[in-house]
Amino acid sequence: MNNQRAEATRSEEITRYFHQLLKSSGEEGDIGFTKFRTVFDELMPIQQEKLKSITGTQFESLLNEGSMISIGITYRDRNINFIESKDSGEVDYKLWNIYAREYDRLNQILNQMSRDIADRFDGIPLKATMGGLIGKIDHVKEYFEMVISHRVVAENAGIGWRGKNQLTIHEKFSCAIRFATIIVPYPLSMSDRSESKCGSCTACEDVCTFIKNRDILPDYRENCRRYMLFLKSKGIEKDICGKCIKACYQSSIFKEVFSLRS
Ligand code: SF4
Ligand code: SF4
Repeated sequence: MNNQRAEATRSEEITRYFHQLLKSSGEEGDIGFTKFRTVFDELMPIQQEKLKSITGTQFESLLNEGSMISIGITYRDRNINFIESKDSGEVDYKLWNIYAREYDRLNQILNQMSRDIADRFDGIPLKATMGGLIGKIDHVKEYFEMVISHRVVAENAGIGWRGKNQLTIHEKFSCAIRFATIIVPYPLSMSDRSESKCGSCTACEDVCTFIKNRDILPDYRENCRRYMLFLKSKGIEKDICGKCIKACYQSSIFKEVFSLRS
């Protein structure tokens, strides 16, 4: 079997297994592959150091041969409605918490799936982005050294494009999708990188002044972190907001195209 066929066969096996996991857990999602080196080159220097420490003695061979698998699973349509719901006139934080708990549930499923895929295909799982940290740090910059950007992996793996809200926008699921990553030590069939399709859309900028002013703020992500802290003071249980996800899914130029299960 030549190299390309071996890569294709392995990629198909991984994809098939991922879809089995999706089916058995009753979730919806997507998967894609990219080169380890491509992701490494795009990460912030501090995240590159983290990736080196995670991969240890395998790092050099991963740079030459390795791949990254991006897996994503989606929220349900009804979860999105709970974000900043104002059906009673006031913001309903209790309903917002249903979305917050779903964020946590999706992270746990992703963590289990990434472990399962890593076990089966000789990989290293990188968990879904952790919650529970925003109140333990003084500035969002401290957060970057703790994580590897799943968005960089997902975008290079062709799963979605980087939206104006800085989230990964999937063609079908909008940004109502969460990610984990698996590093594997062999080449896979790579997908093409997704280029932005946001165009003239401003739905996420219209609901969040931090996104709208991201080019003039010192770091809009710090404003975002502080807003999440404010939400926690209102009783929101996790490190979430989600307004820019709701705007993209329900109000963007793609609102008729995006679809999530009910
Ligand atoms: S999560 Fe909320 S505060 Fe943060 S960028 Fe999105 S809408 Fe703005
Ligand atoms: S709301 Fe519109 S501009 Fe914002 S990320 Fe979604 S498609 Fe792009």
